[in-house]
Amino acid sequence: MISPGKTIGVLGGGQLGRMLAQAAQRMGYRVHIYEPAEHCPAGEVAASEVNAAYTDEKALKEFARRVDVVTYEFENIPVEPLWKIEKLTTLRPHWGVLEVCQNRLREKQWLKKNNFPHVPFADVEAGGDVLAAVARVGRPCVIKTADFGYDGKGQLKIKDDASLTQAVKAFAAQHAVVEKWVDFKCELSVVVARTPKREARAFPVSENIHTRHILDFSIVPARVSSAVAHEAEQLAMAIAHKLEVVGLLAVELFLTDRGDLLVNELAPRPHNSGHYTLDACATSQFEQHVRAVCDAPLGDAGLRSPVVMVNILGDAWAKSEPDWEAVLSEPRAKLHLYGKKEARPGRKMGHFTIMADDVETALARARELKAKLYREA
Ligand code: AMP
Repeated sequence: MISPGKTIGVLGGGQLGRMLAQAAQRMGYRVHIYEPAEHCPAGEVAASEVNAAYTDEKALKEFARRVDVVTYEFENIPVEPLWKIEKLTTLRPHWGVLEVCQNRLREKQWLKKNNFPHVPFADVEAGGDVLAAVARVGRPCVIKTADFGYDGKGQLKIKDDASLTQAVKAFAAQHAVVEKWVDFKCELSVVVARTPKREARAFPVSENIHTRHILDFSIVPARVSSAVAHEAEQLAMAIAHKLEVVGLLAVELFLTDRGDLLVNELAPRPHNSGHYTLDACATSQFEQHVRAVCDAPLGDAGLRSPVVMVNILGDAWAKSEPDWEAVLSEPRAKLHLYGKKEARPGRKMGHFTIMADDVETALARARELKAKLYREA
């Protein structure tokens, strides 16, 4: 076990790294952050911050030598420099996990090969035949870039001929994946932790509402049957074992109108839809990640209260400073801000959670508080 007092190196300095560092420090670990951009949210709270490119082998090696384990909070890191890190220190999750999860196509091919339920898809090489791929999958469908996509960036829904023409033009030079459009009842996600000793534990399933492709609300417990919740947890756990993840794995799922679960995306790191665990679970996803990558026993992942998490985007600053008092005056709400200086539309600046005796009450209150915070009420 990598004991408290040792040093954890984190690649990526965003809000996930910040909350990870805070959880680690509370347990007595030191945290070093590696992040290309200066003044990052995680660097602000960590013992040390290195600003260098992910391709800067010398800087990465130096960073790796000074820590006891390296983990990451961000997927879009080139894999090659990580091979070298693995020779110098422990990297968790191992680089192969990142390689699968950072590319939509590889992720889908891996799910298919391992017989996990996924959304039907077709691959389009750069310069390849978008029309043929769309014909194979059928309309409506959605075309997405294979690499470096998140929060709906680099996606286009294809329904009519006009959107098809637009897609052919926009994706002419990019490696892409065409996916069948899924009519879903709801979107769900499960965050699972797995240790080097293969102990695995799932956090309660979250029901996620997206607005303009960005997570808006996470509702826990998800409003699905206990059979569906159990199936989702088992599926996420099976994927974590098969991928041999050490650390966290977030599995995003669609529950289709027919009642089937399909995997949408995998993320081998703390996840936005798991932020509710900070206030509503016995152990947070961040603490669980620290425990897993340090080969410590996992904590209790049980839910202590129904909860709704609301993302606070830069849009909340559109009119003026958000109405913080609205959230802070609610006894069962918790505010989390990430220390980002510039509020741009769509940028995740923070989140709040609201606990209640039942989830419908929490959701109604969350909507009211969000409207007040954004000064829309
Ligand atoms: P992604 O970046 O792939 O997670 O997509 C962001 C959001 O777009 C998802 O959470 C869904 O709300 C929506 N979406 C993506 N792919 C599909 C699909 N194949 N069918 C229906 N909705 C989708």
